[in-house]
Amino acid sequence: MSEKNLLQLRGFSVSYGPVEAIHQVDLDVRAGEIVTVIGPNGAGKTTLLSAAMGLLPSKGEVRFDEARIARPSVEAMVARGVSLVPEKRELFGEMSVEDNLLLGGFSLWRKGQRDQSQRMEEVFSIFPRLKERRAQMASTLSGGERQMLAIGRALMAKPRLLMLDEPSLGLAPLIVREVLQVVASLRNHGVSVLLVEQNARAALKVADRAYVLEMGAVALTGAARDLLNDRRIIDTYLGMG
Ligand code: ATP
Repeated sequence: MSEKNLLQLRGFSVSYGPVEAIHQVDLDVRAGEIVTVIGPNGAGKTTLLSAAMGLLPSKGEVRFDEARIARPSVEAMVARGVSLVPEKRELFGEMSVEDNLLLGGFSLWRKGQRDQSQRMEEVFSIFPRLKERRAQMASTLSGGERQMLAIGRALMAKPRLLMLDEPSLGLAPLIVREVLQVVASLRNHGVSVLLVEQNARAALKVADRAYVLEMGAVALTGAARDLLNDRRIIDTYLGMG
């Protein structure tokens, strides 16, 4: 596996007013890696991801391709090839699958129609189900298909790093597995992934490395394979399932 650093957070802290929600987190995503952040409800996973995307102000250091980003902002992150799929998915329900995808590819507009169509075909090759449903309105898709569309839309921008906030939320276990298997396959398409999940078992099965976030701080980190067999993780997060 490549050791090239893509995203690095150092001493990364995030506050809501006077309350610090993320405390001094160090986190790396290397090129070609699927990295997951797991942890209980309210641990700060969404906050960490949103701030890393520049949606919330943060303290500490954000580096991309080894270069420090002086003022992390959504614009700065998008310009470096980062895409976020938020927990709420935020699709345009009254628009077709195809139009939702085109909106995700607006950065390709400048390059012309051909780039967009070509990119859409690449996204369809990752999610063949979306191709079958390309003319269907987004609001009529199943939960799994909507999640695939949300991910597909983010992929339209050709990201180098895809950030996913709880893609398993509200999905049946079988569909969770299907969606996460596609997420794992993204590394073959040159996309690294930072995956925030409450479904620890499913996330650890597809990730290379993991961070366990508890009360806003990294409680444990390591190879996902090792954490799946870690007594503490099994007892606290993997339950019976
Ligand atoms: P969940 O899985 O339930 O979404 P999470 O791990 O993503 O949990 P966050 O949503 O990031 O956790 O919340 C972390 C902490 O920050 C919580 O204590 C939460 O109450 C607080 N928090 C989140 N959003 C805000 C906000 N807009 N204003 C103030 N506090 C917030």
